[in-house]
Amino acid sequence: MVRIEGLRFRYGEGDFHLDIPELQVEDGDTTAFIGPSGSGKTTLLNLIAGIIRPETGRVETRGVEVSSLPDADRRRFRITTVGLVFQEFELLEYLSVLDNILLPYRLHSALSLDSEVRERARSLAERVGIADKLDRHPRRLSQGERQRVAVCRAVLTDPPLLLTDEPTGNLDPVNRERVLDILFDYVRESRTTLVSVTHDHEILSRFGRVVDFRDFHSTGVAEVSPGDEEGGGA
Ligand code: ADP
Ligand code: MG
Repeated sequence: MVRIEGLRFRYGEGDFHLDIPELQVEDGDTTAFIGPSGSGKTTLLNLIAGIIRPETGRVETRGVEVSSLPDADRRRFRITTVGLVFQEFELLEYLSVLDNILLPYRLHSALSLDSEVRERARSLAERVGIADKLDRHPRRLSQGERQRVAVCRAVLTDPPLLLTDEPTGNLDPVNRERVLDILFDYVRESRTTLVSVTHDHEILSRFGRVVDFRDFHSTGVAEVSPGDEEGGGA
């Protein structure tokens, strides 16, 4: 699903650099990215999604070399192939919950908004328990509800690849479990490939694979088996 080779990335002339000699995520995998704050986890999600491009190396997603596509093609690729749940949810305050969920369809002509899509949005909202809040604005939602809106929006297009950034970061334990159940049930049923950044070690056992960013800057990928994270690292 995702194949990374010889990737090097920097923001301008800054000190931070991300070096990943090789990393692959197989179809249908559930992968957690862990590592200290500032180690480049969000950056790598953005590279996989084609939001940013590497300095050198390739990022291939679903057989498409995203890193070398021109801007317009990368945007189309992202909107049709990748579902994204951002760290800060990125809900638009001036839109209703329903319109936030439908947003991808308003952003790109590759997607067309019809009654079937609206129906799907409603049924997703139903499923995650926010169907009675579709007319509200995000500021009148709890954190857990906001996160569920973000998840509905990310999966509305039925993307083969779902990228989530700290999906449980701002949630209390009850909402954390709820959001994770929603995510993992969805991924299992629709055979979506999931890559999720997290610093919550308690949830790692849910993932098929854990990739640790601590060693990306020196030796490459360090792998930890789920549930074994305590003594993990290279
Ligand atoms: P993580 O998600 O692992 O906490 P990030 O990928 O967000 O880490 O950031 C990695 C490094 O890049 C950090 O040092 C951060 O300050 C820097 N960084 C992130 N985004 C930008 C940006 N848009 N411009 C410049 N530096 C950035
Ligand atoms: Mg981050």
